[in-house]
Amino acid sequence: MSRVIVMGSINMDLVVQVQALPLPGETVLGGRLLTLDGGKGANQAVAAARLGAAVRFVGRVGADTFGERLLAGLDADLVDRSGVTRDPDEPSGVALIVVQAGGQNTVTVAPGANAKVGEAELRRLEDEVQPGDVVVLQLEVPVEAVLAAAARARAARALVVLNAAPAEPLAGRPLPEVDMLVANEAEAAALSGTPVHNAATAEAAAARLGRSARGVVVTLGAAGSVLWQNGVAVRVAPVVVDAVDATAAGDAFVGAVAFALSAGWSFEESVELGNAAGALAATRIGARSSLPTMAEVRPRR
Ligand code: ADP
Repeated sequence: MSRVIVMGSINMDLVVQVQALPLPGETVLGGRLLTLDGGKGANQAVAAARLGAAVRFVGRVGADTFGERLLAGLDADLVDRSGVTRDPDEPSGVALIVVQAGGQNTVTVAPGANAKVGEAELRRLEDEVQPGDVVVLQLEVPVEAVLAAAARARAARALVVLNAAPAEPLAGRPLPEVDMLVANEAEAAALSGTPVHNAATAEAAAARLGRSARGVVVTLGAAGSVLWQNGVAVRVAPVVVDAVDATAAGDAFVGAVAFALSAGWSFEESVELGNAAGALAATRIGARSSLPTMAEVRPRR
């Protein structure tokens, strides 16, 4: 089994629940502050590790107490974090999340050390990566670093999975060559320039995006996902669940796909596991706390 190397973001999520989101200029009192480990990159690393992958995370935290806690969080899930730099000058990334009763939220991110991911991390990636490894990238660290990582990982004959989340940094740029591109509906629409709101429109968007990727997946929330490869689109059925909170469903999906590819599964088998992991994550509240283990995804009878 090959390894999974994730290069990307790691944040402390500071979450407060309120009755109603504050308007500009307004102060509202909320509930107890929750400090939760987050960041798409680190969440995806943990998602793959919980399913049984050997995972290494490459990224940046500050030399502050949040940084300590974030590293301890990676340790707790057996993610190798020797590729994480402690930035002496920048604070750890923080997401300020205010959630209103009913689930509507606002999120403000202070990227901190994540914004400094660059040549140092690229060198760590290059030192580590071996042919057949699965390299997982997202877009919460500088896009130049992500594009360079994709090119260098492919040159090292790794399999590159790019989760185009958020899509905005890629706007107006040619898409990088990758093995698998994963986008949700909004991201696929932004990248393809075509509206995406169901499986049929997702297939059309995936076909457009397929010029730069061997496989394209558009995730459709409760409707499952579409996988496009070799000019053919396949609809991969959802696992039907009672969803309570879709936070990190996409991260669970990407982590599961990375695990499966590192174990040599086909693209279609990998997406099936991704759907199962994403569905389970949607049945639980929170991000890290909702990422499932293999025993939960595939219970033995
Ligand atoms: P994102 O969180 O990036 O917006 P999605 O909401 O599309 O991503 O979720 C990723 C995957 O998780 C979906 O393709 C699907 O397989 C699964 N998933 C998400 N929400 C649900 C749900 N309510 N029911 C079943 N599966 C879900």
